[in-house]
This record gives sequence, C-alpha cells and structure tokens, in this order.
Amino acid sequence: MGSIVLFGPPGAGKGTQAQRIMEHSGLPQVSTGDMLRAAVKAGSKVGVEAKRYMDEGALVPDSVILALIKERMLEPDASGGVMFDGFPRTIPQAESLSELAEISHVLAIDVPDERIVERICGRVACGNCGAVYHDSFNPVPSSGCTCGKYDEKRRADDNETTVRKRLEAYHQQTAPLAAWYTARGLFHSVDGDRDIPAITADLLALLE
Ligand code: ADP
Ligand code: ADP
Repeated sequence: MGSIVLFGPPGAGKGTQAQRIMEHSGLPQVSTGDMLRAAVKAGSKVGVEAKRYMDEGALVPDSVILALIKERMLEPDASGGVMFDGFPRTIPQAESLSELAEISHVLAIDVPDERIVERICGRVACGNCGAVYHDSFNPVPSSGCTCGKYDEKRRADDNETTVRKRLEAYHQQTAPLAAWYTARGLFHSVDGDRDIPAITADLLALLE
C-alpha cells in the first residue's frame, strides 16, 4: 500500500478516523492543520504568515503548505507511506503531491453542510495526547481522557462565522479534487453522516 489521503469538508471526521485507522494500518497521520498550528504556536516565520489565513477561514498559500509537506516527507517514518489528513486541498497541491508520494487510496468522508457546523462548534481536543472529542456526539469519558491527563483545548477558528468561510473555501477550492482523483481511479467515498465506528468499518474495508 502507498499513502492514503483522507478527504472531506472541515469537521467531516478526518482526524477522528485517521487516529482509528492508524491503529490498524500503522501509517503515520500527516495533518497540515496540526503542522500549521504547531508553527503558529512556535511563532515561526511560517506560523506568522499562516495565522492570518487560518483566522479568516481561508486556505494558506500552496507554496507554504508544499514546503511543510516536502520537509515532512523526508522524515524516516514517512518512507513506508503516510495518511494525509487535510491535504491536498487544491489541484496544484495534488499535482505536487503526485511527485512526492505514491497515493493508493483517496477516501472521502461525505457529510452534508448542515451537519458540519454542529460538529465543528462542539469540537474539543485533549492538548496532552491529541484525542478529538465532541461535546455531545463523542464526549470525553467521565473518567477523563484515555491518556490520563486531560487538557481541554478548543480551536479559535472553530466558531460559526469562520466555519461558514471554511466551508465556502472547501466547495470552491477543494471539492474539485473529487473529480481529479476520480479521473485517476483513486477516489472512494463513504457516508459520513453515521456513527464513528460504522464509518471506520467502511474505510477499513476499502483499504483491504
Ligand atoms: P479542519 O480539521 O477543520 O478541516 P484543519 O486543521 O485541516 O481544519 O485546517 C485548519 C486551517 O489550516 C484551514 O482552515 C486552513 O487555513 C489551513 N490549512 C490546513 N491544511 C491546509 C492545506 N492543505 N492547504 C491550505 N490551507 C490549509
Ligand atoms: P476533521 O478532522 O475532518 O476536521 P474531526 O475528526 O476533528 O474532523 O471531527 C470534527 C468533530 O466532529 C469532532 O468534535 C468529532 O468528535 C466529531 N465527529 C467526528 N466524527 C463524527 C461522527 N461520525 N458523528 C458525530 N460526530 C463526529
């Protein structure tokens, strides 16, 4: 198997499913969103440039994203393939990716827009281990996060105004990738408007 792309709108459940699939496939998760947030936190040049786009709910320029990905793909754990989460998001990103990695599957998680806002606005994560939860749909266990050190984090861009802009960017700039990958015989989609384990089962079946 080569690398996998998890595809879908913001809040579709890409990160949630990546963590679950990782337990089976062993492929490391490569999330450009997580890499950008780490750069913002570190106050690096990339972080300073990216932040204004992220706060606006707009896509960060392709050149910035591709520089991050090229560096990431040089790390030893990427040599056996990775699971991309939130990348590629534009056709130029996909074109560059095809020169950097062999993609075996693009797995799309299909979720209608009206579900996205409620998913994003209830999202919480553990700052200690990165586990993703939801206030109502996937609450933190009453005994706390499985890592034992729950540190609740909410993203500044997870608010209704920014989500609507992120959805618009998705429809205009990212959704055309579905046809692009379909033309290359790599695109598969699953109904993401179901519970988390049912979606994982379908994704794993597609990878068999
Ligand atoms: P979500 O999980 O809601 O889809 P991400 O964590 O993937 O959000 O991304 C957060 C923000 O980081 C995006 O709104 C965008 O500004 C930026 N970003 C992340 N990945 C990319 C990418 N591949 N191309 C351009 N911008 C990106
Ligand atoms: P993405 O990485 O695509 O932005 P996340 O995995 O962070 O999406 O999920 C967004 C929010 O929706 C999180 O709060 C998560 O717990 C919740 N969620 C994920 N999958 C489902 C699902 N199938 N049903 C309900 N809520 C979900």
